[in-house]
Amino acid sequence: MTNEFPQTLTIAGTDSGGGAGIMADLKTMQERHVFGTAVVVAVTAQNTLGVQDFMALPKQLIDEQFASLAADFKIRACKTGMLADAEHVHIVVENLKKYHFGPLTVDPVMIAKGGAALLADDAVATVQKELVPLADVLTPNLPEAQRLTGLTITTSEEMEQAAVKLQEMGAKNVLIKGGHEATPDKASDFVLLADGRSFWLSAPRIDTVRTHGTGDTLSSCITAELAKGNDFESAIRLGKDYVTAAIAHPIEVGHGHGPLNHWA
Ligand code: PLP
Repeated sequence: MTNEFPQTLTIAGTDSGGGAGIMADLKTMQERHVFGTAVVVAVTAQNTLGVQDFMALPKQLIDEQFASLAADFKIRACKTGMLADAEHVHIVVENLKKYHFGPLTVDPVMIAKGGAALLADDAVATVQKELVPLADVLTPNLPEAQRLTGLTITTSEEMEQAAVKLQEMGAKNVLIKGGHEATPDKASDFVLLADGRSFWLSAPRIDTVRTHGTGDTLSSCITAELAKGNDFESAIRLGKDYVTAAIAHPIEVGHGHGPLNHWA
């Protein structure tokens, strides 16, 4: 038998510090027992203190990475992360339409916790128009959900309204990561499934600065679980459980926003 082992793909940026981006994605996929592959869209010079520099790769090299993977692997689920700018969002969208890599989880990465812009401001319109409609699962945090919908979100009701709006924009299943902002005592995420069912995912508040790569880890775990054949609801619930455990048992690495514990 060939090509039967669950294979996944992350389309994103690297993190030289190993805690976020493609590095976090592959570590998560490994821990969730799927085979991870990667299309590198951008390379960052980064550590737990922040993003010092980054550069997006030329179109030809990105296209060739997609072609290499399509020629050899049977990708069952894929995700996008940092896509840098409008041109690169478009390059990725064109490749996603060309190949069949299974359900797509879109983590609409915009700004790193340290404040660095990982997506150019003027690329938001391209994400809205071209990428969101391809998303089988869309996983914005609150600031990203606000940018994508144009809504101000300060309450749980507004999170629910934003999820509906994101579905109207074409995303099938929507997970809005609330963190502690709209619900101070717990980390609450709102999920609106494609069939209209919805639910809240809550975890107790954990006070830690070691949360670097949380969004990447969540979207990669969802991707891994979809590749194993789980349905969207189960994949999302398993993703939340994994991230909660990975935050709860921190490892001491670096001097700033440290990485998660992917073994947790
Ligand atoms: N670097 C890359 C390449 C990323 O994709 C991301 C998040 O998606 C980050 C950094 C930001 O990580 P965080 O905001 O969790 O520190």
